[in-house]
Amino acid sequence: MSRVFHRHTREELPSAAKGEGCYIVDTDGKRYLDASGGAAVSCLGHSHPAVQTAIREQLEQISFAHTGFFSNPPMEALADILIDQAPEGLERVYFVSGGSEAMEAAVKMARQYFLEIGQKQRTKLIARRQSYHGNTLGALSLGGNMWRREPFQPILLENAHHIAPCYAYRDKRHDESEEAYGLRAANELEKKILELGSDTVAAFACEPVVGATAGALPAVPGYLKRIREICDQYGVLLIFDEVMCGMGRTGHLFACAEDGVSPDLLCIAKGLGAGYQPIGALLVAGKIFNAIQQGSGFFQHGHTYMGHPLACAAALAVQKVIRDENLLENVQRRGAELRAALEERFGNHHFVGDIRGRGLFIGIELVADRASKQPFDPKLALHNKIKKKAMQEGLICYPGGGTIDGQQGNHILLAPPFIIDETHIAEIVDKLGRVLDSVFAEAK
Ligand code: PLP
Repeated sequence: MSRVFHRHTREELPSAAKGEGCYIVDTDGKRYLDASGGAAVSCLGHSHPAVQTAIREQLEQISFAHTGFFSNPPMEALADILIDQAPEGLERVYFVSGGSEAMEAAVKMARQYFLEIGQKQRTKLIARRQSYHGNTLGALSLGGNMWRREPFQPILLENAHHIAPCYAYRDKRHDESEEAYGLRAANELEKKILELGSDTVAAFACEPVVGATAGALPAVPGYLKRIREICDQYGVLLIFDEVMCGMGRTGHLFACAEDGVSPDLLCIAKGLGAGYQPIGALLVAGKIFNAIQQGSGFFQHGHTYMGHPLACAAALAVQKVIRDENLLENVQRRGAELRAALEERFGNHHFVGDIRGRGLFIGIELVADRASKQPFDPKLALHNKIKKKAMQEGLICYPGGGTIDGQQGNHILLAPPFIIDETHIAEIVDKLGRVLDSVFAEAK
């Protein structure tokens, strides 16, 4: 009997023994094609020799030196490689150990920035419904997924407010262009800022491509540009959460590059270290760093393991492999192929409402009725059934249930490693087809 407190307390999970490229092998020898990189993490697949070597070599040098006392070479080199490619205006990197920590740091840095510049009345935060920013209390307060928030609602931040997501499949009117819808959706932010008091809002946070709670949902063209304009007009900081969609997942190192918009604070994690070590980071605009440097001189926040040398060495190796092997090109090419194969197999499927995404970040939204877009009854817990069946088939995908008008909707998120080839694509589509046929046969 396992003595581990697994999150799924009643399920017995297979035990991962080995990683081989795009596959995980369990202790019974069963192979699973990792079509979601766990939760969009393993972007280089498993057991990449260059990353293994980098970790080993760093271990021989030094494995820990507290950042209150020291910087370290891999941390400095990783900051350089990130800032060299970062969206305009982002000049410094604050390292942490994961996505939630990156979001917590972003919120606290936004708050401290306003203290430094003498605007201490800016205490309110705005984010979007149907979003996920992490499970720590600050990040959960920003998140807009009701299922995740509900049990903890009484202890969440009271100053976190929410507007609608940019969800063209569900919210765009038939007589509306994408651009017009994008403006309408973005203008909700202006309304909310004015309602709360324009000089009381510190920051607005969103995922440029929504991951876990909506299934690779990109904003329509123009939406993020309008969001940026509104933030600038009212002096509100813009936080992009690219924990899931960043680091090449969409075919660009930073997802927001495709929208031509730069935030003031940008959170990354998952693909940064590709799962080889736990690491996240917050990229910070020069104006924020300067305000703190020239003000109190100290960011009043931190964690023991931030800037961990082994984690930074692993992430540095991951980023070098992506750069040196031109893997972003592969993400775009294989992403288009996977999307086309999914369209061909499921495009007219009775229960598939939408296939969307960017690069190798693809969502399939499942509906009970294509015409009305009616979601499945949440009581069916379809996402749990899909995950279980997929594991039986030897396929790792990331099914989820978002919140649609207070109801749970269902999607499957695919985020395979950047190194996939056409045989993996065929295997993903084939296995997913069997999974859906079987789950829908039971659900009828
Ligand atoms: N932000 C986004 C967009 C995420 O998808 C996640 C995790 O799924 C997080 C934040 C939290 O990251 P972590 O689980 O590393 O704390």
